[in-house]
Amino acid sequence: MNIVLLGPPGAGKGTQGVVLSKNYRIPHISTGDILREAVKRGTPLGKKAKAFMDSGELVPDEVVVGIVVDALSQDGTKEGYILDGFPRTLKQAEELDAALKRKASGIDMVLYFEIPEEIAIERLTGRRVCRKCGANFHIKNIPPKKEGICDKCGGELFQRPDDKLETVKNRLKIYEIQTRPLIEYYMNKNILKKVSGALDVKDLFKELCQVFSEAKLV
Ligand code: AMP
Repeated sequence: MNIVLLGPPGAGKGTQGVVLSKNYRIPHISTGDILREAVKRGTPLGKKAKAFMDSGELVPDEVVVGIVVDALSQDGTKEGYILDGFPRTLKQAEELDAALKRKASGIDMVLYFEIPEEIAIERLTGRRVCRKCGANFHIKNIPPKKEGICDKCGGELFQRPDDKLETVKNRLKIYEIQTRPLIEYYMNKNILKKVSGALDVKDLFKELCQVFSEAKLV
C-alpha cells in the first residue's frame, strides 16, 4: 500500500508513520527526517536546507522532489511505503503523480490528520528530542524521568530550533497557504480519508488499521 500522511505540523504524522511502518513492514519516508539527518551531517543537501528549516520555511520543491524520487526507486518500496511530510505543495503533488505514473504506480490513500491549531502548538513547543538517539519527549505529555535527560540513552534533550513558538506559528501559516490546497487536490481524486490527529497514539493507530482494512489495502 502506497500511503501519504498529510496534515499540519504537530498532527502526529511522524509518530504514526513510525508505528505503521513497523506494523506493516513498509518503509516510512519522512522528508523532514531525511533533511534533518543531512543538516546534522553537514552534507551539501543539509547546507542548502538548513536556513529554510530553521525559519520554518519550505525547502525548494526541486530539492525535496529529488529526495523522494530517489527514495522511491529503492528496492524496499516494492511492497509499499508511507510518505510523511511529502508532498507539501501542489507542485510536489503533481511531480509525485507524474513520477509514479511513469512506473505505472500511484498513491492508494492520503490520510489527512486534522487537528485544532492550539493542540498542534502545544505539542510542538513542548516537544524535546534526544541529541544522541533522537527519541521524542514532551514536557507535559511524555516527560522524561529526569528533566533534560533521555530515559532511553541518557543523552541531552533539546528543543528543535523550528519548535520555538514564533517558528511554529510560521510553519502553521505556511501549511495553511501552501499545503492545505492538497486536501482538495486529493479529495478530487477520491483518495482522501480524514482522521483525527488529536486522538492519542494507540487510538489513532487502531483507527488507521481499521481504515486500511475497510479499504482492502491490507
Ligand atoms: P517536518 O519534520 O516534516 O515538520 O519537516 C521539517 C522541515 O523540513 C519543514 O519545516 C521544511 O523546512 C522541511 N521539509 C520537510 N518536508 C518538506 C517538503 N515536502 N517540502 C519542503 N520542505 C520540507
